[in-house]
Amino acid sequence: MSNLFEVKELRKSFGANLVLDNVSIEFPAQSATVIIGASGSGKSTLMRCMNLLEELNDGQILLDSQDISAYGIDLDSVRGKIGSVFQAFNLFPHLSVVQNITLAPRLVHGKSKDEADLLARTLLTRFGLAEKADEYPNLLSGGQQQRVAIIRAVATNPMLLLLDEVTSALDPVLIAEVLTLISELKNEGMTMVIATHEMGFAKKIADNIVFLHKGRVHESGTPEKIFNAPQTQELKEFLGALHQAGRL
Ligand code: ADP
Ligand code: MG
Repeated sequence: MSNLFEVKELRKSFGANLVLDNVSIEFPAQSATVIIGASGSGKSTLMRCMNLLEELNDGQILLDSQDISAYGIDLDSVRGKIGSVFQAFNLFPHLSVVQNITLAPRLVHGKSKDEADLLARTLLTRFGLAEKADEYPNLLSGGQQQRVAIIRAVATNPMLLLLDEVTSALDPVLIAEVLTLISELKNEGMTMVIATHEMGFAKKIADNIVFLHKGRVHESGTPEKIFNAPQTQELKEFLGALHQAGRL
């Protein structure tokens, strides 16, 4: 498989705090990569660098072999190719579900209202949310809101989907429905990068797991390798702590 996306020797600091230290990761087309690591290890910063919300100090980000971190790149055009969903529900409260989903397709991608509406309703139907199409976000459960946020990201037909702890603000019962939606997108061939604390889900969905510790990639590999045969002391300790907490 060819690499759709690649992070090369990425360095990022905030002031004197080196948050990402020489991070290199390859993301094959149609693969799911799960980023794991303790809180503060740099997962969110990595994802924010990947969609150019943060400036890099050093290194490169390649999308389809094009260096999107190069000076002079059209940021809006790059961001239009990368869908992102973050932890906090970030739907616009004054717009209905359909209006939330059609905003970017209409404004950024030039679709007509009818075309965008049809696409939104088709996606909502496919993912079991048809009856919520004309509701406002505050009438939806957290799980439904987060599914709409993911559908909104997918509606622009991105080349890559970044999901940063999209279930961590949800009750356990609602987590499952969001994870099911993500699995369905993976089955449809979406290339995705997922930061999550749901280790059971990581095992199931990941083609590749990347373990970040203090801003460095300490290990990466298949779920089997990462969970059953950890090599580094740092990963062993991380898995041990999860086990102790009953999360593994
Ligand atoms: P994770 O998502 O793995 O919990 P983060 O990427 O959020 O980790 O944070 C990694 C480190 O970067 C932390 O030490 C955090 O305090 C720091 N950091 C993140 N964002 C900023 C920011 N905007 N300004 C300064 N420091 C930041
Ligand atoms: Mg984070």
